Amino acid sequence: MSYSDLIEITGRVNDFLNAGSVLSWDARTMMPPGGGESRSKQLATLAVAARNLLCSDEMKRAQEGAEAECAGMPEDSPEARIVAQVRTAIDYHERIPPALLRRKTELGSAAQQLWAEAREKAAFDLFAPALSEMVEINREMAQAIGFDGHPYDALMYRFEPGTTQDGLTKLFARLREGMIPLVRAIAEADQPRADFLYRDFEPEAQLRFALSMAERIGYDTERGRLDTTVHPFEVSFTRDDVRITTRVYKNFLPAALFGALHEAGHAMYEQGVDTAYTRTPLATDLVSLYAVGGVSFGAHESQSRLWENHVGRSRAFWANHMGDLRAAYPERLDDVSEEEFFRAVNRSEPSFIRVESDELTYDFHIMVRCELEARMVDGSLEVDDLPDAWNAAMKDYLGVDVPDDARGVLQDVHWSSGQIGTFCNYTIGNIMAAQLFDSATTQNPGIQRALDGADYTPLRTWLTENVARHGRRFSRDELLQKATGRPLDPEPYLTYLTSKFSDLYALA
Ligand code: ZN
Repeated sequence: MSYSDLIEITGRVNDFLNAGSVLSWDARTMMPPGGGESRSKQLATLAVAARNLLCSDEMKRAQEGAEAECAGMPEDSPEARIVAQVRTAIDYHERIPPALLRRKTELGSAAQQLWAEAREKAAFDLFAPALSEMVEINREMAQAIGFDGHPYDALMYRFEPGTTQDGLTKLFARLREGMIPLVRAIAEADQPRADFLYRDFEPEAQLRFALSMAERIGYDTERGRLDTTVHPFEVSFTRDDVRITTRVYKNFLPAALFGALHEAGHAMYEQGVDTAYTRTPLATDLVSLYAVGGVSFGAHESQSRLWENHVGRSRAFWANHMGDLRAAYPERLDDVSEEEFFRAVNRSEPSFIRVESDELTYDFHIMVRCELEARMVDGSLEVDDLPDAWNAAMKDYLGVDVPDDARGVLQDVHWSSGQIGTFCNYTIGNIMAAQLFDSATTQNPGIQRALDGADYTPLRTWLTENVARHGRRFSRDELLQKATGRPLDPEPYLTYLTSKFSDLYALA
């Protein structure tokens, strides 16, 4: 069998995964509650079918044929990368015993119910036995996948290949060194007014405005649409149909708009992948089994954070679009200046809840989770001791006293569904966003001038050329090396945060 057979079979894997994505988009936007049980079976069937096709004899023969056929090609050519990625993915999935995967899936549905009940009652004890079992399963997964350093490395591989516990520890230490002084100084500073964000804003108008701004920065609605949901997300069914969702609160203005800008950032990544890669492994994550073109979860998050924060929360953005905002809500914001609005949507204040936290304090929530996950996985932290360790870390990093487990260790769904090792992508995304934005505007000063004039095309073009277009051809660090001249580097992020928040809070 040949390379073209490999492309044909991986195309079918991509179809299975995209069909699953359509079902999960529907489940999270339109499906009535009664559909839940049969829908999870349908999704599981498609995921298993994709995995089995990937690990089938047919695929292995095609992979071997393609490997021989592409032997002389440059190592980083699309063809050679496809062949190598298929081999890596087959190897990854075959290492995980089916019985272990089944235990994880079965425990996942029971554990999510226990977690929901425990959170409702703010009683960690109800969830602790299921979490212990989930940690044990993940430990066995790590052993099966294999690792050189820390077992946590094997768990992060699925979401953020190349990331190690050792590297993360150093990265977090550097971030804390730069960010804690800012958090401490802001705690002493005056907060800007933000009362106007909590006025009545008609939900339909919010959605219209959010969509118009997403389109304005370059989200293509010929190949996309916006719907509402509880937890905003982006999902693609090839680059030609990339959907986003946002949430709307009648009495809290920023959620719908920034949710849409964030998800539009994710969406433009998928919409910008080279058309030649459609249905190939360069637009399919064969390890995590998602039909996406983004090279890692962190790289994906970099695009959403870049558009949400570096563009949408910038002074220039509100200098340009405050008039549009006032026009969208007649008489609601006439007493609010551009500068006041810009300051209000950049308020920083430590809180207990990750999803409600601001740009500066968000990473501390991530550090707490990654550090505790790694310690649970290596056995240096017992699950029973988790709430105390959580509360101590929140106090240490952000100076907040967690009032109860519901607003502490029980707030996220991830662990109950068995996801351990995914949180780092948020902070890696923040770091990458700053690094890419810094390089884009340094290499090409016209990009910042265009942004100052509400022209988003030069920035979008740079990101398409340097990031999106490549799909999964290059690794995250190869991509950064090509676009910015170096691998992941926290310094531009720290410089950006220091300059932004020193200005906002008039810090010395
Ligand atoms: Zn995101």
